[in-house]
Amino acid sequence: MAKKYSSKINKIRTFALSLIFVGFIVMYIGIFFRTSPLIMSLCMLLGVLFIIASTVIYLWIGILSTKAIQVVCPNCNKPTKILGRVDMCMHCREPLTLDRSLEGKDFDEKYNRKDTSLKQ
Ligand SMILES: [Zn+2]
Repeated sequence: MAKKYSSKINKIRTFALSLIFVGFIVMYIGIFFRTSPLIMSLCMLLGVLFIIASTVIYLWIGILSTKAIQVVCPNCNKPTKILGRVDMCMHCREPLTLDRSLEGKDFDEKYNRKDTSLKQ
């Protein structure tokens, strides 16, 4: 099965967005348990926790974005951000790298790992 890659910031953003939805769904489920105040409050609490977690992730993306290097994508000429050594264009999924030694190589997320001793 081929791995689907996407820009890291987009990936985190999608995750944060899905957390909000999960939070609302959990709270919505809580409404069905109106007769049981305990389950209802548990659902509400859990839902709020999901939304708080999502807010924290959004904040984290904000911090990450300020650290990311902004470049103009050579493929679609739109400004995008690079996180780590290799990342993908947010608009056209063009693989981008800041490391000249990796230029022309196939996109591989393992280049982002801290230990660069690539065991093969
Ligand atoms: Zn692009």
